[in-house]
Amino acid sequence: MKKLIILLLISSAFLWGQKRKTNYVIVIHGGAGTITHQRIFGEKQKEYEKKLTEALLTGKSVLEKGGTALDCVEKVINVLEDSPLFNAGKGAVFTGEGRNELDASIMNGKNLEAGAVAGVRHIKNPISLARLVMEKSPHVLLYGAGAEEFAKLQGINLVDTSYFFTQSRWDALMRIKQKEKMEAGDKHGTVGCVVLDGYGNLAAGTSTGGMTNKRWNRIGDSPIIGAGTYADNKSCAVSCTGHGEFFIRNAVAYDMTARMKYLHSSVTEAAKQIILHKLKKQGAAGGLIAVDKEGNIAMVFNTKGMFRGYLKKGSAPVVKMFGDDRSISNPRK
Ligand code: ASP
Repeated sequence: MKKLIILLLISSAFLWGQKRKTNYVIVIHGGAGTITHQRIFGEKQKEYEKKLTEALLTGKSVLEKGGTALDCVEKVINVLEDSPLFNAGKGAVFTGEGRNELDASIMNGKNLEAGAVAGVRHIKNPISLARLVMEKSPHVLLYGAGAEEFAKLQGINLVDTSYFFTQSRWDALMRIKQKEKMEAGDKHGTVGCVVLDGYGNLAAGTSTGGMTNKRWNRIGDSPIIGAGTYADNKSCAVSCTGHGEFFIRNAVAYDMTARMKYLHSSVTEAAKQIILHKLKKQGAAGGLIAVDKEGNIAMVFNTKGMFRGYLKKGSAPVVKMFGDDRSISNPRK
C-alpha cells in the first residue's frame, strides 16, 4: 500500500512536470533582403503569403497534437525547404561552381542538444538530417560526403543534384557572376523557425543554401550553433538570416541569449541592439527571429524587408514581408 502511494506520488509529480502550459508560439522567417513593394507584389506576394501561412499552420497542427517544439521546428522548416520560393532545400541558391551546397542546424533549448549539417548536396530536407545528427550521433556538426554517408545509414534517400535546380536561382548566379562577387542583397530566402511549445520548451532551427556565388566550400552561419541558431530554455530561441560571415564573427544567436541572461535585456531590446546597432555599424545586412520563455517575440531586420510570421495559440497566423509594416519588428529605430 505504502509502495503504491509512493508510486502514485512520483507519477503525479512526473505528470505535473510534463503538464502542458497554456500557450505556444511559433515564429518563422524566410530570409531578409531587398524585399520591397516594387519587387514583390500581386501573385508573387500572394504565393509567399500562402506558403508562410501554410508553414505556420503545419506547426500549429504539430503542437495541437501534442508535438514538441523540436517536432514543430522540423516540420515547419520542411514546408519551407520543399518550396522553390526560399533559399533552402528545393530553392537553394547556386555556388560559384554552379552547385547547391546546403547547410542547416537545429537546437533543443531544454537540454542544449544540437545538430547540424553543412555542404550537403543530395539531401532534400537538411533540417531533418541535422535533427538526426543531434539524436542519433555523438556529434554536433557533420560536413559534406560524411554527412551524406551518415544520412544513408539513417535510411534517408539521397536525391539527385538536379532536384535543386530552379531557373530563378540559376539566373541570379549568372547576374552575380557578371559582377563577380558574393552577393548578400539578392539571395534572400534562408528559412528559420523558433518555437515555444505547450510544455514550456524552446527550440530553434535554420536551413539555407547559403549565399549565391559562394566558393571553396564556404560555410555560413546557419549550421553554426551560436551564430545562426541557438536555443536555451533559460532565455530564448533564435534563428538568424543575413550575411553569414558577420553573424559568425558576432556569435549573434548566442549573443541574444547572453544579453538576456547577463544584461537582463528583453528579447526585443537584445535583437535591436545586435541587428540595428552592432551589425548595422559593421555594414552587415540581415535579421533574426526570436521567442523567449514567456512567449515574447522579436522579428528584427536592418534590410528593406524580411519574410516573417508568427502564430500564437488561439490566434490566426500573421505573415509579413515588407519594412514598412513594422508593428513588431520596428527595424529602423
Ligand atoms: N546566413 C546565410 C549564409 O550566410 C544566408 C542568408 O541568411 O541569407 O549562408
